[in-house]
Amino acid sequence: MKCVLCNHDSFEDVSQVDIKTSKKLRVSLCHKCGFIQQNPLPTIKELKTYYSHNYRLDYKKAYIPKPKYIHRAGKTALQRYKFMKDSEIDHGTLLDVGSGGGEFVYLMGKLGFNSQGIEPNIGYSDYAKKEYGCHIKIGELNDIDGKYDVITLFHVLEHLSSPTLAFEKLYHSLNPKGVLFIEVPWIEAKDASPHNIMFKAHLFYFSIDTLIACASQYFDAFKIDTGSNLKMFFRAKEKPSTINYPSDRSVENVKKRMRNKGWVEYLFEGKGLQKPMLKIIQGFEEAKVKNDPPKEILNRLLRTIP
Ligand SMILES: [Zn+2]
Repeated sequence: MKCVLCNHDSFEDVSQVDIKTSKKLRVSLCHKCGFIQQNPLPTIKELKTYYSHNYRLDYKKAYIPKPKYIHRAGKTALQRYKFMKDSEIDHGTLLDVGSGGGEFVYLMGKLGFNSQGIEPNIGYSDYAKKEYGCHIKIGELNDIDGKYDVITLFHVLEHLSSPTLAFEKLYHSLNPKGVLFIEVPWIEAKDASPHNIMFKAHLFYFSIDTLIACASQYFDAFKIDTGSNLKMFFRAKEKPSTINYPSDRSVENVKKRMRNKGWVEYLFEGKGLQKPMLKIIQGFEEAKVKNDPPKEILNRLLRTIP
């Protein structure tokens, strides 16, 4: 296999098992640029088959999320909004790619954006249209038409067949000075349960430097936040350049991080030990919304914004 980012063909394995199914799944790190990817990468046809059989997505089935998930998604949406607002990104046209149940699109519409979504799952997009009156187009990244001031992709990029091609498409879908907001799982995080990392739906595993490199032909990163996820803002370059690969030192650092990753690190250096308590608090909060209509759950969260 050739590396999707640098075209090099020598790798070291970082995992052999799909953590969700215990089936064999080889995930490898490129020796030259440090990008971590499934090896081999599935073909587009294999991906489609996988999604239609194994993932929670039946692309046509009606979708009705539980109130607790709407509440959770709403809270996450408002954290993402705060992250934007802190950088004075709070108006203009916004497109959420992979908009799911529409919570983010709805809330951003209420908070000053002219917001829309694009979502391949008909059940999800119908739900968002009907429940919140959101403007959602059915489709994937390549079906974006028009140009936007802000484009968001939350936990989408790691599922796509080529991150570099995705950035090219996004570049052409943004207005001049437009902002791209990407969030992906962060492979370097100490705070991520090893149980949730390597599985078939995730084709790519990003470090800070490999995400910057994947975007570097078209975008410059200008704000980075790390927790268990990696959040990054990008601004489009005036014109496309060559790819900026991670330095040798960065590649060595990622290799070292991958060797240290595991349960011991998660429990004692991450926040593994606190998680059960946080879950209990979350359970109390979510029990309160269990009979509420979806829009009311989101509107109530809106009223918590200072
Ligand atoms: Zn590479």
